[in-house]
Amino acid sequence: MFKRILVANRGEIALRIVRCLREMDIESVVAYSTADKESLAVMGANASVCIGPEKAGQSYLNQDAVIQAALSTGCEAIHPGYGFLSENAEFARKCEQNGLVFIGPSAGIIEKMGDKQAARELMIQNGVKVVPGSGGILKSVEEAKRTAEELGYPVLLKAVYGGGGRGMRRVSGVEELEECYHSATAEAEAAFGKGALYLEKLIRNPRHIEVQILADRFGNIITLGERNCSMQRNHQKMLEETPCFGLTERVRKELSGMAVKAAKACGYFSAGTVEFVLDEENNGYFIEMNTRIQVEHPVTEVFTGVDLIRQQIRIAAGRKLEITREEIDGKGYALECRICAKKTGKIGYLHFPQGYGVRVDSHLYTGYEVTPFYDPMIAKIIVKGKTRLEVIRRLRRSLEETVIEGIPTDLDFMYMLTYHPEFIKGTYHTGFYEKQHAKIEQWIAEGIE
Ligand code: ADP
Ligand code: ADP
Ligand code: MG
Repeated sequence: MFKRILVANRGEIALRIVRCLREMDIESVVAYSTADKESLAVMGANASVCIGPEKAGQSYLNQDAVIQAALSTGCEAIHPGYGFLSENAEFARKCEQNGLVFIGPSAGIIEKMGDKQAARELMIQNGVKVVPGSGGILKSVEEAKRTAEELGYPVLLKAVYGGGGRGMRRVSGVEELEECYHSATAEAEAAFGKGALYLEKLIRNPRHIEVQILADRFGNIITLGERNCSMQRNHQKMLEETPCFGLTERVRKELSGMAVKAAKACGYFSAGTVEFVLDEENNGYFIEMNTRIQVEHPVTEVFTGVDLIRQQIRIAAGRKLEITREEIDGKGYALECRICAKKTGKIGYLHFPQGYGVRVDSHLYTGYEVTPFYDPMIAKIIVKGKTRLEVIRRLRRSLEETVIEGIPTDLDFMYMLTYHPEFIKGTYHTGFYEKQHAKIEQWIAEGIE
């Protein structure tokens, strides 16, 4: 096993990894930007190295600085967390070239799945259903128009190298296409350095369902159930549940079967997630594979009893999977709710929920400064219970217990959301927020008056 690992990330995930390393008797070194000098991850680690200024481009995304930090502190491996360099094939390759283990799949696998259009083609060849769409990268607006006409509107323009919902445009008719094409190209260019686009048919009222997998280098692949991540704001997940309420065993099996096929098709190892959209008839279509640990991984952890970060580290060290499908607990329900900062500033009084069935992953403490440089997510509240109603009630009381003073957050919004009939029914789809947020805001305003 590794003796020392560099954590190349920040916020709650850096802390999550540091905690795991401590439990595994592995030393942790946190690479941080000047903005994160006073972070809990830095304080909790065995050592830390400043890798640059606040701007991510000069610190967390600075590949050479991260590699240098690992080499100069005698680390054998790098954990990239999520976001930043976690799905960067060039970085994974640089790690290999410098004799460092990248905790994730190989550079080749990241490359294969990071090109979302090529991944679609690989899935088609391997019998995994994909959303009907363009056959390759779009070469011009004219080609986009022809393809959209064939598929039938509405369609979705997507960035080939996209992530975090950027470079994506819903197009409802030919008159919108040209403008969307140019703005999506520009956005993708700015975010990913490459503006290439492809097209998919827009699935009406879709649900976002994803399957967590773990695979080792010996060809053992297990699925750890599905997560319903249909509660989204601007294509960013807000709340996740497992299992997906109301999914029949047949659909569940079909999705996990496709996830295993997807993993096999690219020779996958490490923790990974296969994402699907489900249409109104519960047909599942592959949309992409995330070749990293995800923000919402704790919801699966509390549901299955499997420490995904630990498994990821063991797999990277060349160990066999520690668990079999049969050993996974997987009873009951789990819910995760993300809390985001609405403004930057210093955290005042802070109190997080505790008690039966509650887990909180957060890097906050009183006096901590939420800066404008990174993701606004400040906490994840995860609850587990026997039934879905039980976890909804547990989430409500957990949100009631939570006090975050000093900066405005979306805590009230998340609380009111748990009372929305569509959420309670569990049948909401990805358009929920757009349609319902004004009403929820109104409930909050009325409640406060
Ligand atoms: P998930 O929430 O399923 O883990 P996301 O696609 O929402 O996956 O991305 C995870 C995190 O990484 C989010 O905080 C998001 O803002 C960030 N992120 C996504 N893509 C990138 C990228 N290319 N560069 C930097 N951060 C990214
Ligand atoms: P990203 O890499 O930015 O995460 P995804 O391909 O995973 O991009 O899509 C982001 C979100 O957009 C999905 O979670 C889903 O809600 C929605 N989405 C993606 N593809 C489709 C589609 N073909 N039809 C309807 N919604 C879609
Ligand atoms: Mg996605």
